[in-house]
Formats: sequence, structure tokens, C-alpha cells
Amino acid sequence: MSVAPGPGSTAGHAGIVARGLRRHFGAIAAVDGIDLDVPPGSVVGLLGPNGAGKTTAMRILATLLVPQAGTATVAGVDVVADPLGVRRRLGYLTGDTGLYGRLTPREILRYIGRLHGMSGQALAARIEHLSHAMGLDAFVDRRAETLSTGQKQRVSIARAVLHDPPVLILDEPTSGLDILAASEVLRFFRDEADRGKAVILSTHILAEVELICDRAAIIHHGRIRAEGSLEELREASGADTLARGFFTLLGEAPAGGAPT
Ligand code: ATP
Repeated sequence: MSVAPGPGSTAGHAGIVARGLRRHFGAIAAVDGIDLDVPPGSVVGLLGPNGAGKTTAMRILATLLVPQAGTATVAGVDVVADPLGVRRRLGYLTGDTGLYGRLTPREILRYIGRLHGMSGQALAARIEHLSHAMGLDAFVDRRAETLSTGQKQRVSIARAVLHDPPVLILDEPTSGLDILAASEVLRFFRDEADRGKAVILSTHILAEVELICDRAAIIHHGRIRAEGSLEELREASGADTLARGFFTLLGEAPAGGAPT
């Protein structure tokens, strides 16, 4: 899937840089001193068990949570000093965001596009393009409340990337998608990185990391336990596949033995 140029800039930005991020909820150290670099032109996978701190870290980067310590910039913009500046440069996909049920995908995308300062023919063309790229054409003019889970997810992805931001943070983007749609959106994100975007992909599916990520960070109990290229991680774990090595890198044995 190739992408028509949108209003965002993909050139000359600084990707994501985080240093010493920390966010506790009472006694829970959800994010406990995380450093992360996602250079332009790359996809970094975020892996970790449930409750590891992935979503909390992404929410900080997306300016939805303020860190209690540490710093982070998105496309060179500080997440605490200029949250609106960050949001202009960021496409954030999360399972939490609902769609306006009474509106159609086209109306939702038009509305969101206007909030991003897009209008007229450029906005219409961008919607047309994403509708095609995300496979929305068959239902782009149907009310969102009538769409299936996977159809809604495709609309959510189109909404997240609508303003062509230089940085994408994707929290389980293939959730609810069929196999073909999942592989198409993963290819789309890889192409976006190849156009110069910095992309975080959080997923529980190792095959997705192996398919499109340049590097991965493994998070557990709010800390990064291992980070590197997939080959480096596999070697560091001493296992023959990343799936087997994952538990070694976490410092834990899986219940029921390692996967085969
Ligand atoms: P999953 O893979 O299940 O989505 P995750 O790695 O995204 O997990 P987080 O959602 O970041 O994990 O949660 C990290 C920890 O912080 C968990 O123990 C969670 O219960 C806790 N936590 C997250 N948000 C809050 C909150 N608003 N209030 C209290 N605790 C929270």
C-alpha cells in the first residue's frame, strides 16, 4: 500500500526520544525509568506481558499522562511542555478510542481532519486514499454503529494516520482484524516507516514484530529488560527463536514450559 502525501512532514524530525520516564500508580511502578529511542525510518516493537507498563509508557508519549520523572520528545517536541504540538505530530492508535456511532467513517474522518486543520479537496483526497488503503470503501458511508469490530478497527487506523503525522504509536493495531487485513495494515505501517516515519508497534504477537520491526524493546514490571535488533535479542536470550528467548529475556520461566 503506498500513501499519497498528506499535510504532515516526514522529513527531518527526531522520532521519539525518552529518558528515565517514570509513572507510579500508588505502590505500582507502572513505568519505572524507561529510556527509548525510535529513530525516523524505523519500527520499534514493544513487547511485554500484561501489566508490564507498555500502555502507560505510550500514554505518556501521547501526552495523555504526565510523567512523574524523566523527559520525552515526539518529533522534537517535549511531551510536557507542548502537548498540543506533540498531538499534531503524532498518530496514536489505542483500543480505548470509540467511534461516533451515528456518523459514517467518511464523516468521522472529515470531522477529525478539520480538527487537524485539513479541509477541501486535500482532505477529501486523503480520505479517499485511506478509504482505499484501509479497505473501507464498502462501508465508508455506513453508520459506524453498524460496523463489525474489525471494520471499526480499520476506521480507527485511518483516523490515527489521517493527518500524515511523522510519528505513529500503535497499541495492538491488528486487534480484531482478519489475517489478510492484519497483514495489509502491517505492510502499510512498514511503508510509512520507509517514508521516514518513526513507529512504535505494541503487540503480543511476535510474528508481527518479526515481520515489520527493526528493533524491539521487552518491558517487564515497568522497566526495559532487553532492547535491540531481533537478531541481537535472539542471541542475547541464547534461544534459537525469539519466541523461546522471550521468557529468558523477561527473566521468567513460562507456566507450562517454553513455547515450541
Ligand atoms: P497489557 O499488555 O495488559 O495491555 P500493559 O503492558 O499495557 O499491559 P499497563 O496498562 O501500562 O500495562 O499497566 C501497567 C501497570 O499499571 C498495571 O499493573 C496496571 O494495573 C497499572 N495501571 C495502569 N493504569 C493505571 C491507573 N490508571 N491506575 C492504577 N493502576 C494503573
